[in-house]
Amino acid sequence: TLMQSQSPVERYLNTLIAEISQIDEGKIADYIPELAKANPDHLAVVVVTVDGKVYAAGDADVPFTIQSVSKPFMFGYALQEYGLEAVLRKVGVEPTGDPFNSIVLDDVNNRPFNPMVNAGAIAMSELLRGADAAEREAAQMTFFSSLAGRELTMDETVYRSESETGHRNRAIAYMMLNSGMINGPTEEVLDLYFRQCSILVSARDLAVMAATLAAHGRNVLTGERVISPGNVRDVLSVMATCGMYDYAGQWMFDVGLPAKSGVSGGIIAVLPGQLGIAVYSPRLDSVGNSVRGIEICKRFTRDFSLHAYVDR
Ligand code: GLU
Repeated sequence: TLMQSQSPVERYLNTLIAEISQIDEGKIADYIPELAKANPDHLAVVVVTVDGKVYAAGDADVPFTIQSVSKPFMFGYALQEYGLEAVLRKVGVEPTGDPFNSIVLDDVNNRPFNPMVNAGAIAMSELLRGADAAEREAAQMTFFSSLAGRELTMDETVYRSESETGHRNRAIAYMMLNSGMINGPTEEVLDLYFRQCSILVSARDLAVMAATLAAHGRNVLTGERVISPGNVRDVLSVMATCGMYDYAGQWMFDVGLPAKSGVSGGIIAVLPGQLGIAVYSPRLDSVGNSVRGIEICKRFTRDFSLHAYVDR
């Protein structure tokens, strides 16, 4: 039977999914109209090890837009292309204590607080390399495809919906234009940011991307070096402090792994040197994290003693 062909890890993950699917709290994000069309019942968990073994359960191949899970990776891109010193002129590494879309800059040097909030991410979008908008767009797609180990595409409908309704992100970008933190062309930088949020991934893709961070930046499926080990360290450090919206402290306490979530319901978590985890469930709590996703991560890390500060 199917059950017998599963590995013990997959059996564990399937049982976990069955239990967690009983939880029906949380609400799908609807501030971007197109996101509201997600299926609230979709639920997936995928674990990928640094040697490329994939353990998947649930709706692991259902596509959804990456949203803010893209942010740590774009920070990694910027570090790769410009180095730490130049990037730190554009963005800090301090948690905000404010929501992800807050219109606030660090008043000492006008920087966005960190690359996990929208302001910081939009500042990173300006750093995409390319002679024109089309080349920068292509550079973005190529980078994310290298992380996933396959050619990714964009959800055009979500992209248009983001772009048509993203007035708050526009306000953030223009505030940064005003303070000299971005130099424009502002609409084009925003466009790259909206496109980045609209890249389609599955939980399986996100787990490969997380595992690539666990493998110090080498893609676990293709072997491609995407981010250097030193830059991965910086990416994971910011994920650990700023990755889970206003739940980052509680998350570190309960789960104990660097992580990033997004409003479409994805979460990645990374155990450096070992594995990447991705979960998907679009029902969100009040701060914007996947309710069932958090529960899966809590259970999984507890059952396998994966908290970074556990005495192994
Ligand atoms: N596209 C979303 C926004 O900027 C991303 C939000 C998120 O996932 O946190 O509003």
